[in-house]
Amino acid sequence: MPGKNPYVKVLDLEQTLTDLHETVERLQQERNDLEIALTTAIEHGDAIESQLEMANRQLQQEVRERLTVEKQLRDLVATITQKSRDLEVVLQTITEHADQIDLQWLGRYIESENAARQDSLTGLANRRQLDEAISHEWKRARRENQPLCMIMCDVDHFKAYNDLYGHPTGDECLRRLADLLRCVLRREGDLAARYGGEEFVLLLPNTDAEGGRQVAEHISRLLEEAAHAHDGSPTGQITVSMGLAAMVPEDDKQDRLFIEADRLLYLAKQQGRNRISE
Ligand code: GH3
Ligand code: MG
Ligand code: MG
Repeated sequence: MPGKNPYVKVLDLEQTLTDLHETVERLQQERNDLEIALTTAIEHGDAIESQLEMANRQLQQEVRERLTVEKQLRDLVATITQKSRDLEVVLQTITEHADQIDLQWLGRYIESENAARQDSLTGLANRRQLDEAISHEWKRARRENQPLCMIMCDVDHFKAYNDLYGHPTGDECLRRLADLLRCVLRREGDLAARYGGEEFVLLLPNTDAEGGRQVAEHISRLLEEAAHAHDGSPTGQITVSMGLAAMVPEDDKQDRLFIEADRLLYLAKQQGRNRISE
């Protein structure tokens, strides 16, 4: 086999070297690319890992916070439940005693109302209640065209009684007289009042002079029977003088009844006491 031209051989070798060189360069390039890819992957991996770690820490923190909040909520619910139970007990107590509370309040209200309209010594109606009753009954009698009667009583020689027996005994005497006046009232709507020291008024709706006289005579009779000793009086016992007025109201001058009864009482005193003037 004939030998190759040496010059050609060199050219082939040069070509082979160039090819090799190119191959080495390509490999070098690929290696560089791989290295870059590897570094990037590692870097990314690190970043992801640290992100995951951070997320994990945040999650753990959140879990801890949730647990704390949950515990606080449980405590709060327990407190509210207890308070609600306490409130229920209070409510139940109030409900159970509501009637009693209302009644107590009502009782006190009625007591104070009565006290404002009652004479404290005798328990009869006081001047205020009497004035209200006169006004009310006068209007009603006028509307219904019915007579309204008033008996005004004044204890005879009562100053002397006090002087003789003392003020407390005088008080007791007034109380007994008040009881007596209560006794003679028979009809609903009749009213007995103490309107002055030893002065009393009976207001009798739907009662004419004749009916009033019967009541007044009943008072005199009972007093005579009671025979309450009064050494300072000509009769030797407690007596009263009475002025009796009865009228069918025709106008709104309700004072007329009171003025007339007072005038007649004065007359009874002038005429010698222990009598009914009408
Ligand atoms: P007359 O027959 O003219 O009515 O004479 P009297 O003495 O009853 O009348 P007078 O108005 O002079 O006296 C009334 C007396 O009534 C004087 C007063 O001390 C007495 N008196 C008034 N209020 C009370 C009271 O609440 N208790 C007592 N014990 N006495 C009273
Ligand atoms: Mg008097
Ligand atoms: Mg008197």
